[in-house]
Amino acid sequence: MAPTLENAFPQDSSSTAIIVPGQTLLTISYQKLAADVKAFQRQLANVGVSAQAAVSIALPNTYEFIVSFIAASWQRAIAAPLNPAYKQSEFEFYIDDLSSAIALVPRGAFAQDAAAVRAARKYNAAIAECYYNGKEVVLDVKEAGKLAGKTAPVLSAQPDDVALVLHTSGTTGRPKAVPLSHRNLLRTMKNIQATYQLSMQDRTMLVMPLFHVHGLLAGFLAPLASGGSVIVPIKFSASEFWKDFVQHQANWYTAVPTIHQILLRSPLPSPVPHIRFIRSCSSPLSPKVFHELEKTFGAPVLEAYAMTEAAHQMTSNPLPPGKRQPGSVGIGQGVEIKILDDAGSELPQGKEGEICIRGENVTKGYLNNPAANASSFTKTGFFRTGDQGKQDPDGYVIITGRIKELINKGGEKISPIELDNVIAQHPAVSEAVSFALEDEIFGQDVGLAVVVKSGQKLNAGELKTWLTDRVAKFKLPKKVFFTDIMPKTATGKIQRRLVAEAMLKKEQ
Ligand code: ATP
Ligand code: MG
Repeated sequence: MAPTLENAFPQDSSSTAIIVPGQTLLTISYQKLAADVKAFQRQLANVGVSAQAAVSIALPNTYEFIVSFIAASWQRAIAAPLNPAYKQSEFEFYIDDLSSAIALVPRGAFAQDAAAVRAARKYNAAIAECYYNGKEVVLDVKEAGKLAGKTAPVLSAQPDDVALVLHTSGTTGRPKAVPLSHRNLLRTMKNIQATYQLSMQDRTMLVMPLFHVHGLLAGFLAPLASGGSVIVPIKFSASEFWKDFVQHQANWYTAVPTIHQILLRSPLPSPVPHIRFIRSCSSPLSPKVFHELEKTFGAPVLEAYAMTEAAHQMTSNPLPPGKRQPGSVGIGQGVEIKILDDAGSELPQGKEGEICIRGENVTKGYLNNPAANASSFTKTGFFRTGDQGKQDPDGYVIITGRIKELINKGGEKISPIELDNVIAQHPAVSEAVSFALEDEIFGQDVGLAVVVKSGQKLNAGELKTWLTDRVAKFKLPKKVFFTDIMPKTATGKIQRRLVAEAMLKKEQ
């Protein structure tokens, strides 16, 4: 059988695949998971879900999400996970963008939350509630929409079928729809398994939402394909995290830096449990937080670099005895990396340029976006990440910024990440985000948003004086905005564009 998600997991094993903690603790074996997925696939076929139909999954991290996601992929359909917290206009955008055949929503949510999904059915998508009744996952069609009266045969997936469509985070513009095939996903799963030597001994604590590649691929699919157990709380909660971690003997987790920082500020269990490694990805991890984490949790911290278009992971720092380099996202992991100039020529080692990647994990191209596709691939099939960076002599990648976010001050390019990392070292600073400010003379200048640690005091003059010894004068912020909270996306990403908007709005 050709490799697809249909044969990516053990199916006849009685060992534990999934643990859903909480009041009604759920422990699911691999055998049971396979049986539930097969049964759900039959239900999808019975309501007319056919090859390459889009199935929007607006469910939180639950057993229902897991079963419906895998079943949709086995049915040759396209799973399209959505943040269940979206408001109507957001549902409209995503469901319309994919012309979804059916949208799966939580039980009981139909009347309230899912009203938004229903209202968003421009393409008349069917609506079904999805829940686990203690025996199996039920698909309860509430409105049949365009699938009314239809049935489909039970199908079998092919490696180049699209299994998943996710949108990019929209950090630098409108989110783009990224189709990922079974082949793309399986490659990333293998790359992640190999990077972290995942095995059936591992017990993964899922932290990130399943509606983005980080949680779905690194926090769930790769560990599941390794035959280990995955602990799936409905959402991240700092107070529950260690309780679940200890009770279910988790031994690693992957998350964005914001979550690591929340955990650093939360009470730790005593004794600190054995943690094989901690993975950080999706946003820059400052060397300061890297060191704090290693010291506090007594585990190697491995920063990785990922994007939706690459089905998540591209590079990672290796496990010991490999070298971990704070401030670097590590080396290519089953993915070729090149640093190219604007014309597409390879730059000499150490020079800064655009990080470009090639591998079986990379999408064939965005949906309905010929302009982006034409500019995103080089003649030799490398994908342009839009990130700026360089490689050290050992091939370790250092990200210096996003090309679209570089601050262009009269021709001088200023890397906001570099500035953030310097400012984060100020003893009174808890968080710092720099961004481009419109400027009459220079075109752009540096704006800076700062969260001051509680109980500490800092003003713009003091911060600038402190910075004068540490960065070139042209990089000093023109304007410093003090704020209590830094605006972030659902997955804890910083969007400089939005931070800038929020700070300027506050000022008015
Ligand atoms: P859009 O493409 O719509 O502007 P986005 O690029 O934020 O949004 P994602 O695919 O979720 O959408 O994120 C990928 C990006 O996240 C990468 O291109 C990179 O800029 C950033 N990123 C990922 N990992 C890291 C990391 N370890 N350090 C710094 N940046 C990272
Ligand atoms: Mg992007």
